[in-house]
Amino acid sequence: MKHLWGIDLGGTKMEGIILEPAESPVTICRLRIPSGAEKGYEHVTGQIVTLVEMMKTASGLKPERLGMGTPGILDPLTQTMKNCNSVCLNGRPLKADIEKMLGIPVRLANDANCFALAETLYGVVKDECPNARVVFGVIMGTGVGGGIVIDNKVWEGKQGIAGEWGHNQLEENGEPCYCGKNGCVEATFSGPSLEKYYTKISGRKVNLKEITELHVSGGDAFATQTINRLTSMFGKAISTVVNILDPDAIVLGGGVGNIDALYTDGLNELKKSIFNNRVETVLLKPKLGDSAGVFGAAGLWSEQ
Ligand SMILES: [Zn+2]
Repeated sequence: MKHLWGIDLGGTKMEGIILEPAESPVTICRLRIPSGAEKGYEHVTGQIVTLVEMMKTASGLKPERLGMGTPGILDPLTQTMKNCNSVCLNGRPLKADIEKMLGIPVRLANDANCFALAETLYGVVKDECPNARVVFGVIMGTGVGGGIVIDNKVWEGKQGIAGEWGHNQLEENGEPCYCGKNGCVEATFSGPSLEKYYTKISGRKVNLKEITELHVSGGDAFATQTINRLTSMFGKAISTVVNILDPDAIVLGGGVGNIDALYTDGLNELKKSIFNNRVETVLLKPKLGDSAGVFGAAGLWSEQ
């Protein structure tokens, strides 16, 4: 049996895991060290090698392959990193460098792709929609991203951007987005965008958790307006994905994905918008929490 080795690389910390593949995989070792991205690229790659050495010592095993979750993506054309918020990685051949340093093949995927894969292989999709062939995993938090899994494998796309629905335009005259366009999905209902909208209509600064609670308690018309706008916009935005991909399941991660109204009102809005008279695609709440990143990284070699 081949063990699965994964590392989830973040800006401040990195986490490594070794899984014994099984119906419910067994965690053999799980370790976390600082990534120190502020100290530069060579420091980060050095820390990755250090973490692998620590995992070897802790487990008595040696990796044959490594999966890595990264903040941005590996550009399929240039084989260098792009769109990383840990900016020291951008423009660097991270995959080739780690392969050279460790002497084993490495696969990379961004956090949304790792999330989608982890929930498919080991999380809510496995438990509640076990025959799913196409899964769309969505992260709706500070930003809005997405990843596509087909037959238990990440579908990266020609340019490495498959699933990036967060920068589809939703409103022509909408809020400006950091990507340079206006009215992107992300600029409309990421966590910070929802909080900004609430402040705009109410004049008050309230965080998303409180907005959601105010809506549920029914005592704040501004909160209800914010959540109703979210479910309506979500239905429209996700319908474009469903019309093209027609997935078996959509997993909604991140702080915004936790809002219950998405699974009721949001689903109804989706029904109104898709090109079909019913919706069989299921909306699921993720199960793995913060562990999705590292489980997804390990899962990148799961079919081997
Ligand atoms: Zn954008």
